[in-house]
Amino acid sequence: MFNDFFEIASRQLNGGLLQREEALAILNSSDDELIELVAAGARLRRQYFANTVKVNYLVNLKSGLCPEDCHYCSQRLGSAAQILKYSWLKPDEAVAQAGIGIRAGASRVCLVASGRGPSSRDVARVGDMVGQLKQEHPEVEVCVCLGLLKEGQASQLKAAGADAYNHNLNTNESRYTEICSTHDYQDRVNTVQQAKQAELSPCSGLIVGMGESPEELVDAVFALRELGSDSIPVNFLMPFEGTPLADTWLLTPRQCLRILALVRFACPSAELRIAGGREMHLRSLQSVALQLANSLFLGDYLTSEGQEAAADLAMITDAGFRVLNAAEQSESIADKPQLRRRGAGTAVAPNA
Ligand code: SF4
Repeated sequence: MFNDFFEIASRQLNGGLLQREEALAILNSSDDELIELVAAGARLRRQYFANTVKVNYLVNLKSGLCPEDCHYCSQRLGSAAQILKYSWLKPDEAVAQAGIGIRAGASRVCLVASGRGPSSRDVARVGDMVGQLKQEHPEVEVCVCLGLLKEGQASQLKAAGADAYNHNLNTNESRYTEICSTHDYQDRVNTVQQAKQAELSPCSGLIVGMGESPEELVDAVFALRELGSDSIPVNFLMPFEGTPLADTWLLTPRQCLRILALVRFACPSAELRIAGGREMHLRSLQSVALQLANSLFLGDYLTSEGQEAAADLAMITDAGFRVLNAAEQSESIADKPQLRRRGAGTAVAPNA
């Protein structure tokens, strides 16, 4: 009964609310049902976003050196991950970095800084960057991600011209203490609510693959629905060496698709973004994921490299989508045939 994904999609298109048993049926569905699940989810995706993919571009304004201890994060207190560590970028450099992403097709720039939350000086500093960015690229959306906000800071960012604020719930409430001891779930909810109250578009999503059960994942997704997150980045855990979750490999590409389908069915009209870790976890199914998600980060992440930006853009056009707000796009051209110079007839080891 619950495996009739098209029936659920039709109900969602008429304003239905995904039920818990249905959500679990999506996560627990078999590989045999996967294409049907994706096709049903794709109906919702196309209804709200047609064939567009929103391209987002991350600028890490301040990297590493964070006093918080989020177990998944390479920038955490005590992380031995060999990431780049630097303090605040100068405004000109931040705007120049953002400009590169914009020229490559990004219609949203995400200005991110490590840390528990910003000081008043940090908010003023980032506000100046937002103002400069908006002056040079008025058409581009700016999302800011600076951690936990204090009273009044969301309004200051809004006044500076920011469009959105990102703060992920990451996982469900009951297991939050397992992934962080320096702040709690409610702190995160409060920050998203402050952003909403200041009329910043709330961006809040997940990190999956941290050992959560299907029930816990459903709790987390339903919490995002309740919170009214406009955009939902789904990160797939990147198990950085030197963090407590190093060597945690719990996802398959098919399960990643089921998770994306769950978010799409639960929040049909939300911008669903395939975020960090998509390359290593979705692998060859990345372009299939675009049938459910309508948004991605172009190129690199905060502390790790993503696939080449050109490959991201080719993946979008190859799958029949177009970059939102971009000029006319042409089909990507395949690499020229490379003549074989290994294996049979040569002294070089074959490709096997
Ligand atoms: S997720 Fe943010 S708050 Fe947590 S350790 Fe990383 S940079 Fe710090």
